[in-house]
Amino acid sequence: PGKEPCTAMRIILAAPRGFCAGVNMAIESLDLAIQAFGTPVYVYHEIVHNKYVVETFRDKGAVFVNHLEDVPTGSTLLFSAHGVSPAIRQLAKDRQLRAIDATCPLVTKVHLEAIRFAKEEYTIFLIGHEGHDEVIGTMGEAPAAIILVETEEDINALNFPDDAKLAYLTQTTLSVDDANRIIRCLKARFPQIIGPPKEDICYATTNRQEAVRTLAAEADLVLVLGSQNSSNSQRLRELATEHGVKAYLIDGQADVDDAWFEGVENVVITAGASAPESVVQECVEYLREHFQATVEVRTLRLEDVHFPLPRELRGLSISKA
Ligand code: SF4
Repeated sequence: PGKEPCTAMRIILAAPRGFCAGVNMAIESLDLAIQAFGTPVYVYHEIVHNKYVVETFRDKGAVFVNHLEDVPTGSTLLFSAHGVSPAIRQLAKDRQLRAIDATCPLVTKVHLEAIRFAKEEYTIFLIGHEGHDEVIGTMGEAPAAIILVETEEDINALNFPDDAKLAYLTQTTLSVDDANRIIRCLKARFPQIIGPPKEDICYATTNRQEAVRTLAAEADLVLVLGSQNSSNSQRLRELATEHGVKAYLIDGQADVDDAWFEGVENVVITAGASAPESVVQECVEYLREHFQATVEVRTLRLEDVHFPLPRELRGLSISKA
């Protein structure tokens, strides 16, 4: 049993939270690929950046690889939601793999913008985090034309003439506020710069951040369910911290430390786009049991986004076991 708080604890469950349309599609794709083609199904990088999801699929027979050399010729290979570079697609072809592309269409959108700008001979500043799977994939579309920009300091180091053709794109899971700051800075430095027709930060990232921004005012503590390597989850934790609220990013209830809740009345719980609802519910249950917490759902926005299965899987039926 946990410590008794002096006042009743209230859980404010943020909505929208958790799985986005791209993650749903990627997970359904891997399930279907396992059923249709048998195990092992190889997955290039983590299917989504979530420990629980990856472990569950490992148990079902998925094999996660970081190098295509580790995939035997003729095997089934799934590209994760974060997308891959054309070089990886080609390598998969060369190795005669049955490739299934579960890239989120909103990531593909950024790839297509990169290709278009590069064709039109723009130098592209990609605002994103170095080493992230999505950034590696996008940069691979036009390696000679894309420069990664992570901070405002990076912009100071850029030197281009006034008439240079410049464009910017962003990773889909950035902090909306940080990205806007960097874009403002780019525009101030290079007034001729152009951007994508519609912003690249995706609806799921934007909506989850909006909910935390709004609810942070009522929170003594924010719990974000998600893995440490999940970019959009990290941004949710940072956002709460920037609003002066203590926040923890946790994979699940096992990471909870009772000491966090001393004197805490209002706990906002949310989840990154790759975190399953089951881990959220386990946390809620734990707090209800140990702290007699009450639960209030706060829906800031409704989402109704669905993406079709990858071309390679359409027409195959899935049994929802
Ligand atoms: Fe797609 Fe956004 Fe989900 Fe990433 S977070 S998979 S871009 S919907």
